[in-house]
Amino acid sequence: MTRVFNFSAGPAALPEPVLRQAAEEMLDWHGAGCGVMEMSHRGKEFTSIIERAESDLRELMAIPHNYRVLFLQGGATQQFAQIPMNLLAGGSADYLVTGAWSQKAYKEAQRVAAGGLGGRVRLAGSTEAAGFTRTVRADELQLDAQAAYFHLCTNETIHGIEIGDDGLPASVAPIVADMSSHILSRAVDVSRYGLIYAGAQKNIGPSGLVIVIVRDDLLGRAGSLTPTVMDYKVMADHGSVLNTPPTYGIYIAGLVFQWLKAQGGVAAIERANVEKARLLYDFIDASGFYRNEVEAGCRSRMNVPFLLRDETLNEAFLSGARVAGLTQLKGHKSVGGMRASIYNAMPLEGVRALVDYMRDFAARNG
Ligand SMILES: *Cc1c(COP(=O)(O)O)cnc(C)c1O
Repeated sequence: MTRVFNFSAGPAALPEPVLRQAAEEMLDWHGAGCGVMEMSHRGKEFTSIIERAESDLRELMAIPHNYRVLFLQGGATQQFAQIPMNLLAGGSADYLVTGAWSQKAYKEAQRVAAGGLGGRVRLAGSTEAAGFTRTVRADELQLDAQAAYFHLCTNETIHGIEIGDDGLPASVAPIVADMSSHILSRAVDVSRYGLIYAGAQKNIGPSGLVIVIVRDDLLGRAGSLTPTVMDYKVMADHGSVLNTPPTYGIYIAGLVFQWLKAQGGVAAIERANVEKARLLYDFIDASGFYRNEVEAGCRSRMNVPFLLRDETLNEAFLSGARVAGLTQLKGHKSVGGMRASIYNAMPLEGVRALVDYMRDFAARNG
């Protein structure tokens, strides 16, 4: 068996020890006589799995007691609708658009508001005119202090733009952040956010699971049009087990959390992520052959889009990479070029192998 270095943006590579443990436990989880996929979601075995996953996530992110952790279905895209359904309550919400994902979230919220929910969804700032190559500047952002919430995407997976706590706009309204593609990759002060959500398939586990971390006081605002399974308060009251949750995804997420703790937690993985990203960006910037167009200071540590100087070489670059065991490097169709997603599970060794290949390809084609 040969495992490649998989640079997919998502579903993305998982830590190998997690996959091995899941394989070992596939037929018989801890002497239960059956696997996790075959267990009752209300039995004591699965209850222990979801409780441990939650407590490990709380520990990793230092989630304060006044926040609830929800394990939901439907992916981050469903949250684009679910957030206004729970939080808008006839009021107004502000959206910052810094790339494809925050734009989708903005459009979906507008659709939900116009479709009968009521309320207003405002564009508080956008970097579209700058080609989504940076985050917003303070003078380009107009926030409404009365807003029900302020939504942003802190890591734009397609455009490769990241906003850390230090770059977070000062907002009076609760901040709602789509952290799908960089959750657990860096330290985050959860108390600065009203709600954090993340689809699992980038940094946490299998697709089909989305994690929502929501402050207590934001629960219970859903209108009567909000379906029961989409009401955060109902899901929180039932410990995410109102109906059958994505049990296997929660189990794998729990194993990933245990793996992260064994790596030294978020602080340690952040140091590794900084080193991986620096290696790749420094090489790209110095190469003269490749380029990344995102403004320094806004560059994502997780998703690194880059272009070849000569785009007619794209196919040759990708096929050579596949032969070298480096896969899924093709950029998103809306941006073109290449994209290397280097999430927590990508070892430094994988980034080194990519840089070696890129250097060699440039030397042969430059
Ligand atoms: C992948 C991604 C999504 C969409 O996730 P789905 O699970 O496919 O709905 C939303 N936001 C960001 C930032 C993403 O990276």
